[in-house]
Amino acid sequence: MAASRQLSFLFVCTSGCNLACRYCYMPPTEHTMLSYDDFATIFEKLDGFFPPEDEFNVVFHGGEPLLMGSDFYQRAFALLAKSPRRVHSTIQTNLLLMDDELLPLFVENDCTIGTSLDGSETMHDRNRTYRSGGGTYHDVAERIDALRERGVPCGIIVTLTNANVGSPRELYESLRRFTGATVSFSPMYLPDDPDGLMPGPGGLAACLTEMYDLWAADEHPLRLVDFENVTNSLLGIARNPRCTFSGRCTNFFLAINAKGDVFPCCDFVGREDLSYGNLLDVSADEVWNSPVREALSHRLDAAKDPSSPLSSCPTCEFFDQCHGGCMAKATSPLGNKDHYCADYRRFFTHVRHRLAKVVPE
Ligand code: SF4
Ligand code: SF4
Ligand code: SF4
Repeated sequence: MAASRQLSFLFVCTSGCNLACRYCYMPPTEHTMLSYDDFATIFEKLDGFFPPEDEFNVVFHGGEPLLMGSDFYQRAFALLAKSPRRVHSTIQTNLLLMDDELLPLFVENDCTIGTSLDGSETMHDRNRTYRSGGGTYHDVAERIDALRERGVPCGIIVTLTNANVGSPRELYESLRRFTGATVSFSPMYLPDDPDGLMPGPGGLAACLTEMYDLWAADEHPLRLVDFENVTNSLLGIARNPRCTFSGRCTNFFLAINAKGDVFPCCDFVGREDLSYGNLLDVSADEVWNSPVREALSHRLDAAKDPSSPLSSCPTCEFFDQCHGGCMAKATSPLGNKDHYCADYRRFFTHVRHRLAKVVPE
């Protein structure tokens, strides 16, 4: 029997949103919405194509996916429950539209809830704002607290920008309010950055190394999954990260927008040159075996060309930890390595030295 995989299908259900974050990648004007019928058509194609032993994680993403309303989710969960395979679901939401009608639907259907919060109130409110311009920290943090009081876990993604990387201690301490929640970091990358939102040179490394030291010395450490993964990877403990640092994310992720167009992940939605095809028009077989997915899956082949920026990856001492990083954070996903290569090298070096002091060879 073939080994099972966990495949994540990220449905960008709508490009609309109730907020107006400064670093939002969604187009501000064109608001699309996935119909239930199109969702069902797409899911059934995927369900019919992949071997039954593969597990699915259906991720409701946006924009703001709660804009889809309770009727969509009632029907979607009923459809997922009919699949003969193991199907898990996740919603990545800003939480501000979660109410007493919607929440029971997600809880009863074991849907994992994730949100975004960028550190302290000052850090968060610099970028994550209402359309009126006011900060959302107070309301988002209150909703995370309310979920936790009801025993509903909520994962947190922290976007690392110039608003928070300069104060790693404040960032770490601000997350203590949510001790027990799973926290992951997502460094901001924008091909053009006219407003200077990205961490400057070395800023990411300085932030990660100081936070790592705080975390490692903490008697009640936060659940920082990226630090856990890097530590385990450097210790040679098998882990299976499927996103950044895996070098093979194309084997596990598909992002699907409201029109049915398929992309490698949410970061590429709208990049027509990187579309695998449209699941409302063609089969799941054609999408999965598209030349674009094939090319991206072999992006590290470019490393054989000495003139390629990727050529330094195979001989890099941290290749097993990094695999060229995230292709969505490269100026060219097929020809360049992660923009934060130098920061990651500094961070990995720091963690390795730290581990060498406490773990015998
Ligand atoms: S919550 Fe997400 S989709 Fe909405 S404006 Fe902010 S970044 Fe964009
Ligand atoms: S491109 Fe980057 S963000 Fe997207 S799935 Fe791959 S590693 Fe993750
Ligand atoms: S740290 Fe840099 S050189 Fe090393 S594998 Fe990652 S991207 Fe390549």
